[in-house]
Amino acid sequence: MSERRVSIVTGASRGIGYAIARRLAGQGHDLAICGTRKQTIEDAAARLSEEHGCDVLARAVDVSDRQQVLDFVQETLKRFGRIDVLVNNAGITRDNLAMRMKEEDWNQVIATNLSSVFYASQAVLKPMMRARHGRIINISSVVASMGNPGQLNYCASKGGIDAMTRSLAKEVGSRGITVNAVAPGFIATDMTAELGEEAQTKLAEQIPLGRLGSADDVAAAVAFLASDSAGYITGQVIHVNGGMYM
Ligand code: NDP
Repeated sequence: MSERRVSIVTGASRGIGYAIARRLAGQGHDLAICGTRKQTIEDAAARLSEEHGCDVLARAVDVSDRQQVLDFVQETLKRFGRIDVLVNNAGITRDNLAMRMKEEDWNQVIATNLSSVFYASQAVLKPMMRARHGRIINISSVVASMGNPGQLNYCASKGGIDAMTRSLAKEVGSRGITVNAVAPGFIATDMTAELGEEAQTKLAEQIPLGRLGSADDVAAAVAFLASDSAGYITGQVIHVNGGMYM
């Protein structure tokens, strides 16, 4: 296809989301990206368009707020006239043992990591159905499959994403839309930097490939799922974890 494709990537100001946006820009996509902070997301957009010559719409959006997500998707459609790929990447952690977990931390993680995926996916369905083409890619986590103490809320949100991925894939497959998830293992980003160096070294020792993953390791899998080569893959959770979970 000679026309430029358009991808939405949530949480793309840094980390995995930024790496995904970069890969997609490298594949010739124009972008709509968001994060919670205006300056950081605009800086990311400037770097992406300078590096790849792509058109980038950058907005401060809280993905846990349905109206903000709907406005962002509408603005993307207005600006580009199409949406080919949606990458639901924005996510947070609010870790604590189940006994001590505050209701607010439960609600915040479910709203940001899981409800946001519903809001954005629902919003892109109409234009994708009309085009009879689309790719929805959700960023899950290895802990949805493994479980992880101290991450009850986070694991529930990511397990919900995996289940939603399969359900939506069944609903929209006949319209030419694929829905998949990518489940990263431990990836070196700000999120894992919070763990400290000692914990990171211990984690790396438990990974067969002997290192934490990079944001680009995850982005490569997302870029593949977004490409024409992945047209017959749907409803899958692709693990990118260096072998830590098999
Ligand atoms: P980071 O913490 O490095 O970056 C998070 C990104 O999400 C930032 O761009 C941030 O923007 C944005 N964001 C956070 N909250 C919101 C919100 N409410 N609305 C919009 N944007 C938001 O995270 P990672 O890159 O490490 O993680 C990205 C995804 O990968 C997440 O879904 C995470 O759960 C998942 N993942 C990460 C793993 C890892 O080891 N790092 C492992 C498995 C899964 P801003 O800075 O402006 O707030």
